[in-house]
Amino acid sequence: MFLKGKTALITGSTSGIGLGYARALASEGAKIMLNGFGDPNEIASYVDELTMLNGDEAAYNGADLTKPQEIRDMVAECGATLGTPDIIINNAGIQHVAPIDEFPEEKWDAIIAIILSSTFHVTKAALPAMKEKGWGRIINTGSMHSLVASPYKSAYNAAKHGISGFTKTVALEVAQQGITVNSICPGYVWTPLVEGQIPDTMKTRDMSYDEVINDVLLANQPSKKFVTIEQVASMALYLCRDDASAITGSEIKIDGGWTAQ
Ligand code: NAD
Repeated sequence: MFLKGKTALITGSTSGIGLGYARALASEGAKIMLNGFGDPNEIASYVDELTMLNGDEAAYNGADLTKPQEIRDMVAECGATLGTPDIIINNAGIQHVAPIDEFPEEKWDAIIAIILSSTFHVTKAALPAMKEKGWGRIINTGSMHSLVASPYKSAYNAAKHGISGFTKTVALEVAQQGITVNSICPGYVWTPLVEGQIPDTMKTRDMSYDEVINDVLLANQPSKKFVTIEQVASMALYLCRDDASAITGSEIKIDGGWTAQ
C-alpha cells in the first residue's frame, strides 16, 4: 500500500473514470475525497467501499464545479477532514454535441467551467499545501480531444486542449518542488458519458445506435476496442509512484492508436 498516509481529492468521482481512479488509489491505501453528483445512497455506498479498500477514511463533497467558492470550500474541507490533498485528479467532465452555429451558449459556458476552469480552481487551492510538503501529484483527465478534434464538440475540444496547456504551465512552475503535473488522454472509454452522447449523435448524424458505435465512436480508434476504466486508473496509480517522478508536463495517451493517425 504505497499511498498509505496520502490523501487524494478526485473531481467527478461518483461515476465512470473518476470512480475507477478512486478505487485504484484507495486499493493502495490513499484516503479519498469523492466529488460529483448522483444518488445519495449510491454515493454513501461508494464511501463505504473506499473505506474498506484503503482501511482508512473516505469522504464526499458535492461541490458544484461551476461554482469557484464551492470548489475552494471542498479543498478546505478535505484538508480539515482527511488532510490536505497530496494528490488531485481533475476529472469531472460533461459533453454536448452540436454544430457550432447551433451550439447553446449555456452549454459552452458549463463545459468550459466544469472541465477547464474547475481544474484551475482546484489546483490553485491545493497547490500551497503540496509545496509546503515538497510532494504532490496533479493528474488531469485530458482526452484524445486534447490533441486532435472531432466535429460538433467545439466546447469539449477547446476545454480539453486547454487542459494540455494548463498542465504544461503548472508542471513548469513546480518542476523543482517534488510535484508532477500530467494529463492522461484516453481514447473512447465505455462510461455513462459516452453512453449519454449516443442519442444526440444519432440525432445529429441521423444514424442508428450501432452505426454510432462502429462508425463514429470507434471509427477512429484503430484497436476497435473501447479503453477500459481500469486501464486509465492504473496509469494514474503509476503516476503517483516515485518511479514516475521524472514524468511531468506530459500528455499520456491511452487511446488504442487514435492519435497515431
Ligand atoms: P461520467 O459522466 O461517468 O462522470 C462524470 C463525473 O463528473 C460524474 O461524477 C459527474 O457527477 C461529475 N460532474 C459533472 N458535472 C459536475 C459538476 N458541475 N460538478 C461536479 N461534478 C460534476 O464521465 P466519464 O466518462 O467517467 O468522464 C470522466 C472524464 O474523462 C471527463 O473529463 C471526460 O471528458 C474524460 N474522458 C472520457 C472519455 C470517455 O470515453 N468516457 C474519453 C476521454 C476523456
